[in-house]
Amino acid sequence: MIIQRVVLNSRPGKNGVPVAENFRLEQSTIADTVQVGQVRVKTLYLSVDPYMRCRMNEDTGSDYLQPWQLAEVADGGGIGVVEESKHDNLTKGDFVTSFTWPWQTVAILDGSLLQKLAPQLVNGRLSYFLGAAGITGLTALLGIREKGHVAAGANQTMVVSGAAGACGSLAGQIGRLEGCSRVVGIAGTDEKCSILVQEMGFDAAINYKKGDVAKQLRELCPGGVDVYFDNVGGDISDTVISQMNQNSHIILCGQISQYNKDVPYPPPLPPDIEKIQKERNITRERFLVLNYMDKQEASVLQLCQWIQEGKLKVRETVVEGLANIGAAFQSMMNGGNIGKQIVSVSK
Ligand code: NAP
Repeated sequence: MIIQRVVLNSRPGKNGVPVAENFRLEQSTIADTVQVGQVRVKTLYLSVDPYMRCRMNEDTGSDYLQPWQLAEVADGGGIGVVEESKHDNLTKGDFVTSFTWPWQTVAILDGSLLQKLAPQLVNGRLSYFLGAAGITGLTALLGIREKGHVAAGANQTMVVSGAAGACGSLAGQIGRLEGCSRVVGIAGTDEKCSILVQEMGFDAAINYKKGDVAKQLRELCPGGVDVYFDNVGGDISDTVISQMNQNSHIILCGQISQYNKDVPYPPPLPPDIEKIQKERNITRERFLVLNYMDKQEASVLQLCQWIQEGKLKVRETVVEGLANIGAAFQSMMNGGNIGKQIVSVSK
C-alpha cells in the first residue's frame, strides 16, 4: 500500500534553529497484509512538542529520548483509527493512541503498544488526548501536585512562564483549581496575554517582549511568588526567581529558551540567581512526567472531568496536513501557537 510519510531531512545542529526544511515529505509503502497481533491504523492527529528539538540532534542529551535518524520516519504522540485488526483487544473503528506514532498517513503497528481511547471523555474532541487529556495535561497536573506544594487556603501566588502554550495554559488554570489565590502568566504576545486573562482566568499576564518584566512582576505579585511553573528558563526565569519568597517552589517543567543551545539539562542558574535560590531555600527539582505514569489513569480522569465541567478551558492550534508538520514544529518553537500545537492528518 502506498502511503505518505515525513522523515528527518537534516539536523539543525546542536546550536542551530530548527526549520521546516529539516523535515521532508515522501511517498513510501507498507505491507498489504496485517500479521497476527498487528493493526492497520489511519493517522488522524499528530502532536508536535518542544522535546522533539532534542530528538533532532545526533545525541539527545537524555537517556529517555532516542534521536531521530536521518532519512527515517519521525515519530511522537499520535492518534488514529483502526482500519483492520488482528489484535484480540482492538477492532475496526477503535480510536487508539501511542507516544511513538510514526509520522505517516497509514501504518501497521503492534496492537499491544496502543492505548484505546474513549472520545466521550473529552466531549468527542479526540485531539485533546494529545494535549489537555494527554501528556500535556498530565505534565501540568502532576508537575503541580508533585513539585508545587500548592495548598488550598494558603494564599499562594503562582507565576507561569510559557503561559499561553500547551502546558502553561493548563498549569495556570490547574494552579487555581488546586488552591492558588493569584495566578500570573508570562507569554510572548498581547493576544496571548489577553486570552490568558479573559478566557483562562489568570489574574494578569505579562508580555515579556514588551516593557520591564521585573517591574511588572513586582506590581502584579506584591506578596512575592510562592510557586513558579517554569517552562522556559533563561532570563525570564532569573527574573521570576529573584522575586520568589522564602521556602517557595519551582516546578522545573522545561527550559525552551535553552533548547537551541548545547547546554546540559537542566541548565545551571547564573551564580547570583543560584545564591538567591539557596539563601531562600527555593526548591528546584527536576520534573519528568514519565516518572509518574502510575498516576496516569486517575489523573487523566481528573483532567477529563474538569474539561467536561468547563473548569479547564482548552486551546489548540491545528495545522492541516502531514506535509505541514515541519512548518508546524518551526512555528511552535517560535511562539506561533496558542495552547497545544496539533497536526490534523486526515484531510
Ligand atoms: P508550548 O509552550 O506550547 O510551545 C512552546 C512555547 O514556548 C512557544 O509557543 C513560545 O511562546 C515559548 N517560547 C519559545 N521560545 C521561547 C523563549 N526563548 N523564551 C520564552 N518563551 C519561549 O510547548 P509545551 O508542549 O507546552 O511545552 C512547554 C515546556 O514544557 C517545554 O519546555 C517542554 O519541554 C516542557 N515539557 C516538559 C515535560 C516534562 O515532563 N517535564 C513534559 C512536556 C513538556 P511565547 O510566545 O510565549 O514565547
